[in-house]
Amino acid sequence: MIQDFSQEAKIMIEQNEVVNLLSDLIRINTSNPPGNEIEAIDYCARYLKGFGVEPVVIESAPKRGNLIARIKGSGRTPFMLTGHIDTVPAEENGWRYPPFSGEIKEGFIWGRGALDMKHFVAMSMVSIKELLAEGFKPKRDILLVITCDEEEGSGCGARYLVEKHPDLIDAEFGLGEVGGFSMNVSGKRLYPVMTSEKGFAWLKITAEGESGHGSMPVFRNASGRLGLAAWRLSNIPLPLHITEDASAFLKTLSGIVGIKGKFLRLLEHNLTNEIVIDNLITNPNQKKYFKALLRNTATPTVVNAGEKVNVIPKSAIMRVDLRYLPGISLEEAVDEVREVVGDDLKIEVESYGEPLSFNKKSELFDIIKNIVVAEDRGAVVTPYMSPGFTDAKYFSKKNITIYGFTPLKFDTDINYTSLIHSENERVSENALIWGKDVLKRVIKEYCG
Ligand SMILES: [Zn+2]
Repeated sequence: MIQDFSQEAKIMIEQNEVVNLLSDLIRINTSNPPGNEIEAIDYCARYLKGFGVEPVVIESAPKRGNLIARIKGSGRTPFMLTGHIDTVPAEENGWRYPPFSGEIKEGFIWGRGALDMKHFVAMSMVSIKELLAEGFKPKRDILLVITCDEEEGSGCGARYLVEKHPDLIDAEFGLGEVGGFSMNVSGKRLYPVMTSEKGFAWLKITAEGESGHGSMPVFRNASGRLGLAAWRLSNIPLPLHITEDASAFLKTLSGIVGIKGKFLRLLEHNLTNEIVIDNLITNPNQKKYFKALLRNTATPTVVNAGEKVNVIPKSAIMRVDLRYLPGISLEEAVDEVREVVGDDLKIEVESYGEPLSFNKKSELFDIIKNIVVAEDRGAVVTPYMSPGFTDAKYFSKKNITIYGFTPLKFDTDINYTSLIHSENERVSENALIWGKDVLKRVIKEYCG
């Protein structure tokens, strides 16, 4: 895994190499389930070997694989770049170009994974290649970790690596998803960098009651009580919590929007939060994000009760997707759910992952900020919280701070975040090349 690049033959880099590499990666279908990522992992391994980097491929299950490569530095703490190579599945319908075609058309690279997140795998490998070609000698190890299985919980991917090969994963700071995609806000480009993410807990909530024949009703039966609990959960917001991160994010945002944006600060108050979300924020995606930013959320998803129309069931069960904020314990979050559904229902936690909150005061964060502003004058960089979860949850177990930053500068008004997991996922060639250049500068500055 450790090489001396000084003796290597000259490294050749094609024009638009990152564009072609991303297109190649999209053409290798890694839809998860089932994943079958090994072909794409082998492709990355061959690409790295092509310029003298010897990766380790770790197969976690048949046809499932992860890749770890280390460019040896001269002793400072290692730096990690990480991306998952699997994608969510795609139906052929509704795409302008087929989802696994990797077509380069109309200035875009089209296909599943273009944004989530083969773009970053391609950008990372090309950045490393270019730096080595320039004779760059890093002062830290650069650790490249390409994982499988992120879209289905990381059991064969990041979680597997951290549990089974902890010695191979060591870094102090790193970059991964989700963040660094530019957003147009009042004519300014805003680059959110993920510094915290919500925790999740998947709950099983059971109502028990008396069973019987439908012709002889049992009042407050299991189905009815569970139905009421589901209705309450989907109608009554859990209490407001103003985390430090959320408050900083709202402050930055309202600063950009100017006078009109002052109302954003009203989100932080109990009396005005819902009024602002319901009446002043018009974009449906933003409405959803702001709802998730300041509260734990509990969404009933699977509901099961009864088998026959004339039989009153003894029990009724629902699954609830609970997401809770950094700084709040699982017990506190579950108590908030109990408060809404009532004491007479049984709540069990079937699985969970804790929230993350990384320190934003770091050399790496400052470097990111300075380079983004240097490459996009007038841009604003802000920390933000992701309501979802990423591989960072597992890597953080090794005390690695991973910022969500896979930089892309979008120059049109397409809502790129809405293309993730959706049809016509694509990234523009310009955005990708810009992102690769920014990433390369960040690596060079932080590891130089
Ligand atoms: Zn992803």
